[in-house]
Amino acid sequence: MSSPASATSVLDLVREDLRAFAGYKSARTDKVDGHIWLNANESQRANRADVDGNLRRYPQPQPEALRARLAEVYGVRAEQLLIGRGSDEAIDLLVRALCVAGQDAIAIAPPVFGMYAVCARLQNARILEAPLRDPSDDGAMWSPDLDAMRALVLEGGAKIVFLCSPGNPTGERLALADIAAFADSVRGRALVVVDEAYIEFAEQDGGDAPSATTLLDGRDNIAVLRTLSKLHALAGARIGCVIADAGLIDVLRRCQAPYPVPAPCAELALRALAPEALAEAQARVREVRVERARLYAALRVTPGVCRVYPGAGNFLLARFDDAEAAYHRLLAAGVVVRDMRAAPQLGDALRISIGTPDENAAVVAALQALENAA
Ligand code: PMP
Repeated sequence: MSSPASATSVLDLVREDLRAFAGYKSARTDKVDGHIWLNANESQRANRADVDGNLRRYPQPQPEALRARLAEVYGVRAEQLLIGRGSDEAIDLLVRALCVAGQDAIAIAPPVFGMYAVCARLQNARILEAPLRDPSDDGAMWSPDLDAMRALVLEGGAKIVFLCSPGNPTGERLALADIAAFADSVRGRALVVVDEAYIEFAEQDGGDAPSATTLLDGRDNIAVLRTLSKLHALAGARIGCVIADAGLIDVLRRCQAPYPVPAPCAELALRALAPEALAEAQARVREVRVERARLYAALRVTPGVCRVYPGAGNFLLARFDDAEAAYHRLLAAGVVVRDMRAAPQLGDALRISIGTPDENAAVVAALQALENAA
């Protein structure tokens, strides 16, 4: 596949008005040293609730130790990684930095995670869509129509393509070779954002599925989103990151709020990435994979469930004869699942996160009770 070469660097895709934008110059920007710090209008004394007394100071804009550890865990260089308030913030930064309001566009494959479209709306960027393909074979995965997505770039002018792998809510994982070929085919025209919020739950050949971060060498038009919210069980700490070309990371940093990572969250995240904590995370992954397979098998034979899709994330998507009744039956049993019925192609679907064995058993029991009541 030849690559259209209207731009040579991913930085040419950045909004022209932001390329030389310096962003906010905070008290932490100047690399100066001293022992009496009076440059940030911080409190001269600590709050009694601040036991260690460290929080009267603004945090490092990009906490260095955490950045280095995340880079190590994800197998990339620290300068390729920007920490933000969840990967949600990274999505917003990418759209704002690349899309000129009222002019540029993003491409998505619905049904897909809603934040891509939300951020585009906020930036007044156009949203171009190439629907995800629902497999006709039972047991098969959904798939993006990459030819149609390429056309959205080459003919529609989309500047960012969001690929979600594993897809939320559909669960499919994309082959790295397909992502690489697609990125190469839109090089110079679009940045391909691979959202890997759930990648750690995915398997390949009996082992862990590889990350698209392995595609970054020699390709500056791929950005990968990773998060501590899922595998690392820290959704409340709001730590996620974007991994991409170091020049692009630099641009995004200048567009970001001055101190985006609260110090207690950075410290917690660092502890959550210590070897013992990582070993526990691996154990959680194993449990999710086992429970996912069990729930998949159970739902397939549950009356009233007309289709379950195999999923690579920590959730399953299922279609129901009567999704309304199933949703309310689950609620009556105290089980809250995600109602997907407003999403395109999913008028009869619910998304169920993988819980503990007992929680998953409660899901199946509630749905079976639905059939008995019918
Ligand atoms: N991407 C996907 C596909 C998600 O499902 C989510 C959260 N549900 C996010 C990104 C955002 O995650 P966070 O901001 O917590 O990192």
